[in-house]
Amino acid sequence: MENVIIIGTGCAGWTAAIYTGRANLSPLILSGDQPGGQLTTTTEVENFPGFPEGVMGPDLMMKMQQQAEKFGARIEYDLVESITRQENGSIQVRTNSGSEYLTRTVIIATGASPRHLGLPNEKSLIGRGLTSCATCDGAFYRNVPVAVLGGGDSACEEATFLTRFASKVYLIHRRDELRASKIMADRALANPKIEPVWNSEVQEYIVDAEGDVCGVRIFNRVSNEVSTLDLKCVFVAIGHDPNTGFLTGSGVALDSDGYVLLDGVSSRTNVPGIFSAGDVADRSYRQAITAAGSGCKAAIDAEHYIADLEG
Ligand code: NAP
Repeated sequence: MENVIIIGTGCAGWTAAIYTGRANLSPLILSGDQPGGQLTTTTEVENFPGFPEGVMGPDLMMKMQQQAEKFGARIEYDLVESITRQENGSIQVRTNSGSEYLTRTVIIATGASPRHLGLPNEKSLIGRGLTSCATCDGAFYRNVPVAVLGGGDSACEEATFLTRFASKVYLIHRRDELRASKIMADRALANPKIEPVWNSEVQEYIVDAEGDVCGVRIFNRVSNEVSTLDLKCVFVAIGHDPNTGFLTGSGVALDSDGYVLLDGVSSRTNVPGIFSAGDVADRSYRQAITAAGSGCKAAIDAEHYIADLEG
């Protein structure tokens, strides 16, 4: 029987692992399909306390993992399929490789995944000129025009990063005002390589004879005009959906958008022994530091729960 299984390896998961590891609970971490979480797809993180020069997202995650492993955390690269609380109070965790674990507590820290527009050919174009990760794919598009979709911090950060490679970056946004924080928005809009395309929706990804993206058809919501932009890659940065599909049937309460519902004070879900932390339970803040902080809370809550079980 495990003491604690942590599902997810982003900031929340690794912080929970550091704390439960230091509490001698020997946590088992199940990685999910994107080890390291969202920070592995970002560039420089400038607002994580303790790094006045900034830190690269993947480096920060690597350091968190090393810190957790130093305190006895164990990682398995596996994807959780279901969690079920048993009558005796233990929790069964099943993975898609066929493994089954029993544990006293679970910390759900599975984060959120990038959203797409839902256009018919979208899925088939991923990797063929359509991506959600500038850090991963930006360098493939040197000296050619590209576009970023969205108006948030991610869109501004990706657009600014892509100016290192692309000849031009269209920043396509459905409104005439960015949602991003002022510092990120100002930085993007001041960059001469970034051309904002306001009030615009992508209606279609245009594909060349090889099946790669070569343009987008856009609809201007103010003028009602339809036009075409020639480009080689579209970076979709329109937000995220919480990764909670595996919770179907678990009894864990979710809100209408699929985020895990907490009790409002702690990291407790409605199911005893199951806790949650990070973006999967946070639709408001969604920062690396808030995820880390909530991972700490979940670890302490799990520790107290186990102590109570032991009487
Ligand atoms: P976000 O803030 O939710 O922004 C999503 C953007 O995509 C919005 O501009 C939204 O338009 C647009 N959008 C959503 N659905 C769309 C659709 N179907 N079609 C077209 N456009 C659509 O998401 P985010 O930029 O990924 O940021 C998420 C959180 O992470 C935020 O709290 C952000 O501050 C944080 N973050 C921080 C950093 C950093 O500090 N380094 C970097 C990245 C992200 P509307 O504006 O019209 O709603």
